[in-house]
Amino acid sequence: MTTVNTPLIALRGIRKSYGGGGHGAPATDVLRGVSLEIHAGEFVAIVGASGSGKSTLMNILGCLDRPSSGQYLFDGRDVSAFDADALAWLRREAFGFVFQGYHLVSSETARENVEIPALYAGTPEAERRARATSLLERLGMGARLDHKPSQLSGGQQQRVAIARALMNGGRIVLADEPTGALDSASGAEVMALLRELASQGHTVILITHDREIAVQAPRVIEVKDGMVTSDGGPAERVGSAPFVRTHGAHGQASAIADLREAMRAAWRVMWGNRFRTSLTLLGIVIGVASVIVMLAVGNGSQQKVMEDMETFGSRTMFVAANPVSSRERGAPLTLDDVRVIADTPNVEAVAPYIEDRVVVQRGSVDHNTEGGGTTLEFSKTLRWPVIEGAMFDEVDERQVAKVAVIGQTVRKRLFADGSNPVGQDILVDKVPFQVIGVLAAKGSSGGEDQDDRVVVPLSSAISRLYGHPNPTWIAVQIQDTDRASQTAGQIEARLAVQRRSRDVRIWNQAEAIRVQMATAQTMTVMLGLIAAVSLVVGGIGVMNVMLMTVRERTREIGIRMATGARQRDILRQFMAEAMLVTSVGGGIGLLLGLVTVLGLKLFGVPVLFSTAACALAFSFSVLTGLIFGFMPARNAARLDPVVALTGE
Ligand code: ADP
Ligand code: MG
Repeated sequence: MTTVNTPLIALRGIRKSYGGGGHGAPATDVLRGVSLEIHAGEFVAIVGASGSGKSTLMNILGCLDRPSSGQYLFDGRDVSAFDADALAWLRREAFGFVFQGYHLVSSETARENVEIPALYAGTPEAERRARATSLLERLGMGARLDHKPSQLSGGQQQRVAIARALMNGGRIVLADEPTGALDSASGAEVMALLRELASQGHTVILITHDREIAVQAPRVIEVKDGMVTSDGGPAERVGSAPFVRTHGAHGQASAIADLREAMRAAWRVMWGNRFRTSLTLLGIVIGVASVIVMLAVGNGSQQKVMEDMETFGSRTMFVAANPVSSRERGAPLTLDDVRVIADTPNVEAVAPYIEDRVVVQRGSVDHNTEGGGTTLEFSKTLRWPVIEGAMFDEVDERQVAKVAVIGQTVRKRLFADGSNPVGQDILVDKVPFQVIGVLAAKGSSGGEDQDDRVVVPLSSAISRLYGHPNPTWIAVQIQDTDRASQTAGQIEARLAVQRRSRDVRIWNQAEAIRVQMATAQTMTVMLGLIAAVSLVVGGIGVMNVMLMTVRERTREIGIRMATGARQRDILRQFMAEAMLVTSVGGGIGLLLGLVTVLGLKLFGVPVLFSTAACALAFSFSVLTGLIFGFMPARNAARLDPVVALTGE
């Protein structure tokens, strides 16, 4: 249905008014019914006094803005039906803008600025560069490819802007007062360029307040107070081909290439604002480092508690007879009680211990010590191994053997001559016993030297030393520490039935450890939370800076949109910036955390370093970037192109 006679651009009764939405300001009608037709290949000048509505008209022509009413047909199609992405596509493929104020992205070089429209069209990098370079060379800017806008004169900047307008083909060049900021020589050059473009078949729409400039165009449309007052009409049918839809002609660059490009741009911005970026980074660095350090310290203390408890048997409980009153001793424990305890679920081993003071003798040396009779379960339940010689065994128990193992203190007293105690005879309460083993050192606990003892088989203790079979205490080893309290309760209940009285005491060491572990865990969680909070604070810092960045770069966002960036391109760019900041911060934080943990370790602070914590902290920081970068990025993406372009 598109024919050669279909105007490329047809405006029918276009109106545009501002304000009047009940917010105090009265409505201003800037355009009051503009109708005009422009054919492909025409060179048109729109002229009018300042304030007559020319720029407003150009923004509508270039699909940067929508009219309040009226119809805009582009190549026969009503643009009011186009969504934001379709309009972006039209700006990218059909239009090239040249503004009075050049509107270059200040952080990028001349060539990079020219490349921007191709970036959003998905042109491959090599092709993009080559084309930008050749365009700039054609416009006499070959020697200034890598200059930033601030290093270029006004005329040079405008030439960069024209090259940019031509980057994607520039079928329609919209120039709003392109010479307005230039001296007359540069202005003349720019005009010559536009005339040349027109002669090459580009449709050129020049907007100016200067009649002398306007008359250089074959067709002049005059605008006054938002209305067309005169229109030279198409001078001649240039007969150039109408705008042909070329959607997808460039193909879409891969998502990875897009992301890489966004990262590169993000890096440039970050580098350009080094000081501010490093301040923002600081928050994330501290956050990540503290997550790592605090988790290492928390886990370290947890492990320390565990190790401490291991030495005294984390799975051991003690049962003893409870005196009924201060005078009455109550019924002693019996070996039947031991059997009842051994039959309780979750009980792994039981060691009865008959304890009383004895005198040990060797030669002329004698020593008052704690004597004890117990079973071979002793070593296991109390985690108290024999390190020299051997523990007595079942045979010794059955044969009521006169064998003994001694603690380190007894060894020191009786064997001060340094001889090997194993195999030697000693007297225990005047009864000869043979030393068959030496217990490992245990240190002191509860103010008592645990190593000051001699231990013999239970049967020998009963018949040769004490004459009674009543354990002073019973050590119980359980399987599952989580069920420690339950098991203690069961033992208590069973003994109450067996003894017909609730007269035993149970020290539930496992339970005490569990409580202590829980405390240590709580501390870890608390430390982790504190660290997480600092990371969140860091994230808020990122958000703050991102919001600032978006505000500062509103103009740039507008430029990018005018050159065809879609909302998602803008979103991607700002998200990339936020993520770059947080991942660089995360990386530095990771290193700092590791160094701190190592330092603490050197100073003897118990730390437990985990890669999982590091991974967690790092991904949390990147996530922070995602979350806190999203809002500012979305704000940027949702900006209206005209508002962004004209905004400060
Ligand atoms: P020109 O480019 O011809 O000098 P403009 O199109 O920039 O004129 O502006 C025409 C009129 O519209 C001016 O009076 C200006 O104050 C008004 N105008 C332009 N943009 C806005 C806006 N966003 N809000 C309110 N008034 C505006
Ligand atoms: Mg203007």
